Amino acid sequence: MSWPNKKSFLPLSNRRPQRDLTIRVSQIRAFERMPEHQQRDMHQLSLRKLLVHAYATTPYYKKRFDDAGFDPSQARTDCPLPLPPLTRNKLRSEGHNQLSNAFLPSDLRLYTTGTSNAPVKFQCDLNGLKNKMALNHQLNSWAGFQMGDPVMALWGAHTYLTMEPDWRLRLDKKSSLHRIPSSNGIINEEILERFRIRYEKTRPRVLFGYSTVLVAFALYLQAHGLRHRPKSVIATAEALSPENRKIVETAFGCSIYLQNSSRDIGMVAAECSKHEGLHYHPWGSYVTFDPIGDTPQGPAYRLFITDLLNYGQPLVHYDAGDCVILDNQRCSCGSWFPLVRSFLDSAASSYAFADGRLQPGHRLSFAVKDDFRALLNVEFIQKSRNHLHLRYRVRKHETAVDGELDSVRETIDAMMGEHMQWTMEKLADIPSERSGKLSVCLLEVNTPNDRNAKQSLGYHQPF
Ligand SMILES: [Zn+2]
Repeated sequence: MSWPNKKSFLPLSNRRPQRDLTIRVSQIRAFERMPEHQQRDMHQLSLRKLLVHAYATTPYYKKRFDDAGFDPSQARTDCPLPLPPLTRNKLRSEGHNQLSNAFLPSDLRLYTTGTSNAPVKFQCDLNGLKNKMALNHQLNSWAGFQMGDPVMALWGAHTYLTMEPDWRLRLDKKSSLHRIPSSNGIINEEILERFRIRYEKTRPRVLFGYSTVLVAFALYLQAHGLRHRPKSVIATAEALSPENRKIVETAFGCSIYLQNSSRDIGMVAAECSKHEGLHYHPWGSYVTFDPIGDTPQGPAYRLFITDLLNYGQPLVHYDAGDCVILDNQRCSCGSWFPLVRSFLDSAASSYAFADGRLQPGHRLSFAVKDDFRALLNVEFIQKSRNHLHLRYRVRKHETAVDGELDSVRETIDAMMGEHMQWTMEKLADIPSERSGKLSVCLLEVNTPNDRNAKQSLGYHQPF
């Protein structure tokens, strides 16, 4: 995945980008200081403005809203949008009809998500990218990460370090918008030692990375000595079990904050200081939740998101494939910002190689998730160091699953760099049409560093 790609960023001709960013961040902070009723009013205004724009300037939404008899100027944030969800397949097939005619091509920037086999291309307007950048900074500030703080980011085999970064440069770096590199994410002792040397030498105030990599790094530092303690640790892309959260917080002596960067929209949700779930910031998005069934952790919901910042190619009622567990209680921080307790499709484990290397688990999830047509969902269970057990469900009336199963196995074999021993298990069909919407990919493995993997995976029972 690359979000956004290299050419998608802001004009360097802007002489005062730092001031521009500061102004935008201060606008978000002013929003956060408003009384709740004003925030809700502004949220609804933002939603209507985006929807009216989408209706007026794109053929796709004109037809879609007309077909549904939907007047975008009357949209309400307390009522679900009466629209069918926008799927990734629709984005692939009709993306060109979703581009706003209010923008010249030169005002838009291209970015790509999805797998290499099934990429999804988006455009975003420059102002929208600047606002996303500002929201990114503000959500970072919830974790104590302020502009200019030295940050070290850990991405499997990669690190990224910046000291007093210029924001124009940071726009094109992994840490700024949580862009996740697509190259090899394997971690091993050699890489952890490289991380350690750089970490102790540069003494970053903020440590940032995948949950599983941070856990492995915390354990490695505990075993090899740790001198520097950062101000904050930020984890992204993966769930974090309570036990692994404790490992990181104990090692580094500070809180760890989870963030969620939507694969298609950018950074949209983050933990507050109470750590009771991730808040979706209403300045940047409007989210709704459709119930799909019960899990041992509580009722599960399909998440639909409307991007309130991208006017170049509006994404309305977008289904990015995220399934979540909600918390019925308002966060103890007092905020009404929508709160997601956990994500079902965030694999928290790492695949363990025979020689001790680890492969962050979400990479398997990302690798196969977008390619499903006949398969409804899959789960990987690591039985031994070279044995993967694949459990899967198929969509009703779908018979052509063999090709997709072959593709899944080939994809994972290629990622692992070896031919795995595979066993397969077809699970019962999903009984109801509602739960039939579920299409998530889970990973269960056991590694020495992942002792609580099962609890962190969201669910294991069929709905
Ligand atoms: Zn909160």
